[in-house]
Amino acid sequence: MIKEQLPTLIEKGNIRFDVPLAPYTSFKIGGPAEVFCQPQNIEELIDILKVAISFNIPYFILGNGSNLLISDKGVDGIVIQTSALNQLKHEENFIEAYCGVTLKALCYFAKEEGLSGLEFASGIPGTVGGAVFMNAGAYGSEIKDVLLSSDYLEPNLDSLNSLNPIKHLNANEHNFAYRRSIFQEKNLIHIKSVFQLQPEDPNIITERMRSFEEKRKEKQPLDLPSAGSVFKRPEGFYTGKLIEQCGLRGYQIGKAAISEKHCGFIVNLGGATAADVLALIKYVQETVYDRFGVKLETEIRFLGKE
Ligand SMILES: Cc1cc2nc3c(=O)[nH]c(=O)nc-3n(C[C@H](O)[C@H](O)[C@H](O)COP(=O)(O)OP(=O)(O)OC[C@H]3O[C@@H](n4cnc5c(N)ncnc54)[C@H](O)[C@@H]3O)c2cc1C
Repeated sequence: MIKEQLPTLIEKGNIRFDVPLAPYTSFKIGGPAEVFCQPQNIEELIDILKVAISFNIPYFILGNGSNLLISDKGVDGIVIQTSALNQLKHEENFIEAYCGVTLKALCYFAKEEGLSGLEFASGIPGTVGGAVFMNAGAYGSEIKDVLLSSDYLEPNLDSLNSLNPIKHLNANEHNFAYRRSIFQEKNLIHIKSVFQLQPEDPNIITERMRSFEEKRKEKQPLDLPSAGSVFKRPEGFYTGKLIEQCGLRGYQIGKAAISEKHCGFIVNLGGATAADVLALIKYVQETVYDRFGVKLETEIRFLGKE
């Protein structure tokens, strides 16, 4: 049915059907997207959104898939992946980055331009869109500390059909909080952000990035597929410690396991299903609650058919 509703977009050649999503996620888990597309520019993105909204087709914006668990049964509707929206621009102390730029590319670009402030993010395996959506952070810094403004789309036809569909947000209008932003609250589509940085010697920036990346390698199971920290940090506790104190280090359901190296991570030992991961998440939440009375809320997001 969706095929009939997307004729103009199919002609453009950027639409595919029944595309397995596991390769597009850091967990390497997930069934197929009914429709999958990678818009090449903002006009194509707007066209796709207009079709989806006009025909009531569900859609989902996919960045680098590093904070996601995708259902084994796949995803109905259109998955819109942003990797081709990847322009970067530098002017004075500012860098403008589109949603599909990876944080790694952004951080290395900033370093080349002699601009400091993003070093904390160089090891976070997401895109700029995903990082702004999540207010990603590490080592005491968050995206909100360096972001000046963003451009976005509103998911409704009046706005997308208007003369100027691209809207603007200043830093203080993002409603940033711990792993939260207005993009989650209002289902906004992130297009690009401007980051405000400080001039610095590229060698010093390289050294800072290297030191953060070393810390990551030491503490995190980067050799196995995962989606990073599964749970948000409950106030006053360390998630990894709570899970470890329940004796769950290495605990396994199917091919999903609590990482031996970092108990806040669930790793895919090879062939894990989303059902394995969900069962493990539930088991950890129940065990930690029974033992400590602490409710663990997931940081990773679930997508697809239950
Ligand atoms: C090994 C590892 C380490 C990690 N370490 C950290 C860390 O230190 N700190 C941290 O904060 N996170 C960490 N993460 C989690 C993850 O990398 C971040 O949350 C990242 O910001 C997600 O970006 P993404 O592009 O992969 O988003 P995705 O996983 O693709 O999507 C996440 C959410 O963002 C939305 N989204 C993506 N792009 C857009 C857009 N353009 N417009 C609107 N919505 C959009 C999606 O719809 C989805 O709801 C880690 C993950 C892994 C695998």
